[in-house]
Amino acid sequence: MQGLVFDIAEASIHDGPGLRITVFLKGCPLRCKWCHSPEGQSPAPELLTFPGGQRLAGEIWSSRKLAEYLLDKKELLDGVTFSGGEPLLQADFLLEVLDMVKDALPSIIDTSGHGSYEKLKALAEKAESLHFGLKLLNEDLAKSWTGQGSALILENIRRLDKECATPYCFRLPLIPSVTDSEENLTAIANLARELNNLTSVDFLPYNPVTGGKYAACGRQYEPGFDEKASPLLDLKAFQSICPVKARLLD
Ligand code: SF4
Repeated sequence: MQGLVFDIAEASIHDGPGLRITVFLKGCPLRCKWCHSPEGQSPAPELLTFPGGQRLAGEIWSSRKLAEYLLDKKELLDGVTFSGGEPLLQADFLLEVLDMVKDALPSIIDTSGHGSYEKLKALAEKAESLHFGLKLLNEDLAKSWTGQGSALILENIRRLDKECATPYCFRLPLIPSVTDSEENLTAIANLARELNNLTSVDFLPYNPVTGGKYAACGRQYEPGFDEKASPLLDLKAFQSICPVKARLLD
């Protein structure tokens, strides 16, 4: 089977434990206003235009070719992370890759959780762990900031927690006055209390995008929030209400 990959980070240290390769799968059903991978959103190949030239985002790989590429590097790596975009959109392709690499390379699936529950569970059962890129729990706010409500994501997380023992963490981008509001953080701590296989809540500092990435896709970056505002997160206060480890990543 074939899949569409828009980037491969060869020596990643931020996408899970140890030294990893991160494979970025193209296509995402969300449209987060702060997305720093706009070239990963469309499910089709895209020609990016930079001042110095052009680059195609979106290369077709067969599952076998990608598995062989990863297995070639297994001695140097602690694992592989499949990110996006949204890996759930290419779940059948990814399941084939996982079948070929899972005995040699521990895998992490980095997903928003928005997609087919059956595919999510099938991937989770073959992965070592998952990263849920949680954003906003309030349905209306999620719709307005990410283009999709939160109901399906929350239903998938709750159901997976009951039906699959694979551990997972939440990874929350700290978008000033958006995702780091008291209401959202309290809702996340409350959700964490319901779950058995959640290992940590990890906060990711806001990553200022280069407008150039949007310009390269022929779009304008219009985040709609104050990029320079200080984050509202009080980590100690959050830790006091969160039942699992909570930390701020670099
Ligand atoms: S889920 Fe990730 S890739 Fe998709 S739009 Fe949001 S930030 Fe971008």
